[in-house]
Amino acid sequence: RSQPGWAAMEDWISSTVVHPDPALEQAITTAKDAGMPPIEVAPNSGKLLQLLVGIGGARRVLEIGTLAGFSALWMARALPEDGRLVTIEYKAEHAAVARKNLDDAGVGSRVDIRQGAALDVLPTLEGEEPFDLVFIDADKQNNSNYLEWAVRLGRPGTVVVLDNTVWEGAPMNPEQDPVNAPGIRDSLELLGADPRFDATVIQTVGSKGWDGFALAVIR
Ligand code: SAM
Repeated sequence: RSQPGWAAMEDWISSTVVHPDPALEQAITTAKDAGMPPIEVAPNSGKLLQLLVGIGGARRVLEIGTLAGFSALWMARALPEDGRLVTIEYKAEHAAVARKNLDDAGVGSRVDIRQGAALDVLPTLEGEEPFDLVFIDADKQNNSNYLEWAVRLGRPGTVVVLDNTVWEGAPMNPEQDPVNAPGIRDSLELLGADPRFDATVIQTVGSKGWDGFALAVIR
């Protein structure tokens, strides 16, 4: 089947099952207007993140890579009133757009946007209550470092979602994308070999092409 068919089916799934509302649409349009790349999760993946937060009864969620707050909004909506989403974003312009989108959507009080390079921000979160779910969606070169931080800032049972782990098959043949593929491959090897994780990878197709995500739990 052709990729346009997958994208059309994704649109159909969005309008039939997932129903992104105007606040979520705003996160997409404001990102586009601000010149950000269209690299947010697809709506059906955002909904999956929201379901995972709800199913696990997560109260504390950590996200690495905010962009305009699209995935953050999906997840924040599943948090209880006293829940907290900490999301880390390197670019001040992205963090500012996300701040407004999350405030406009009415979940701003539950979301703490920390601006800076994730490897600088993550150590500042040590000593807080452990995170129940960690969503990693930033620079692929640091995937394995972020998995290490997920263990440090999580607890046994913490759910970890690592995005973009299929990358059109590049992890199998890293020469396809020498910038990103080695980091993705290393992180998948870590998930498969390290006894601290129990993991799988799900392949996806749709508006984002042929990609996928890893789902893991910390043992
Ligand atoms: N999770 C977002 C969503 O689905 O709506 C998309 C995140 S986008 C794929 C990746 C974001 O990570 C970009 O906004 C980028 O500026 C940010 N980023 C890249 N490297 C980073 C780093 N080292 N530390 C923090 N943020 C980083």
